[in-house]
Amino acid sequence: MVKFGSKDLARYPFLREALSYVTKNEFKLEDLDNPDYFHLVDRAKKKIEQYVFEGKLGYQIDYNKTHEIIVQEEVIIFLISLLLIKSVSIDSVTKKFALLESMRFEKYLVGDLDSSNHDDGKIKLILYEIFKDLFKTTIYLEVNIYNFYKIKIDDYLDHPIAFQEREWNLVNRTLNKGFVYLDSNEIVRLFRNELYLLIIDRIKRMNPKKVPEVIVTISNSIKNRWEKMYPPIRPSGHHDITPPCIQHIYDQIKNGENLSHPARVLLGTFLIYSNKSMEEMLDMFKRLPDFNEKITRYQLEHLAGKRGNTKQYFVPSCEKIKLNNLCFETEVCKGISNPAQFFYRKKF
Ligand code: SF4
Repeated sequence: MVKFGSKDLARYPFLREALSYVTKNEFKLEDLDNPDYFHLVDRAKKKIEQYVFEGKLGYQIDYNKTHEIIVQEEVIIFLISLLLIKSVSIDSVTKKFALLESMRFEKYLVGDLDSSNHDDGKIKLILYEIFKDLFKTTIYLEVNIYNFYKIKIDDYLDHPIAFQEREWNLVNRTLNKGFVYLDSNEIVRLFRNELYLLIIDRIKRMNPKKVPEVIVTISNSIKNRWEKMYPPIRPSGHHDITPPCIQHIYDQIKNGENLSHPARVLLGTFLIYSNKSMEEMLDMFKRLPDFNEKITRYQLEHLAGKRGNTKQYFVPSCEKIKLNNLCFETEVCKGISNPAQFFYRKKF
């Protein structure tokens, strides 16, 4: 095991080495009702509220302390966050938190990989440890090209993204002597899903003997606020039947899952066709883990023909939806070639 003694470790509180900073002081989650921890509970609460209700990555590590205290505090805040999310116990909250928290770690990883060429060796060891221990992949620094890394082709192909998107296909990658070459952004992107799953897994594993009162109180308030903000999705519009493809998207949103680009276009055009107001549409999209109001508003206006070339986009045909694997055809789709036709079904 690599020994770390640096405050850099505070950026990766999920590592064993970071955890050892609190276990050696016999920290227990059951002790969180002790007022000595309230300032850390408060920081975890604020971080979660920013992630979950504002979709913002505003959390900052407080570096104005000794190295040991910085690492201890970051690990404890991380553990408190996991416990709070586990106590809220709403799938979509868990997924949104995991996405934003993994994006925070991604940012640190990209920054550290970018500077690891000229930094001391310690941070490099942390990074290699993360990839090797957690993701079971060895990454190598390419000494001949500035800030480039390489991984074995077999390891690369273990990642579904290598088959999902054209830019990630091997034919579009730089290869040499059995290695794939990637810059820091790409290497972190390759592991995006693993990082996200790691957070989900850590949340599931939170199992204290007794959940402290302070955690119960805060998690109840987060839960109530979430349920007020996001009441159950009801089928919209003046039609009786929701097309199965659209219902599937509603279910994904309800479960806190992210949507692919084609699914967003389908939902957006369908809602526009249903005569939904911008606020009603935003209300639907804001449930997505990576919601950004400015971008979503722009995209919806673009689909509605209020931006750019003023062309309004119509709901895609069933044929096109099938090509994007978004069709969930049932009996009700008989004779339908576009989900928009469901609007007229009621009249007959
Ligand atoms: S057949 Fe058309 S309307 Fe039905 S689920 Fe598939 S894409 Fe949607």
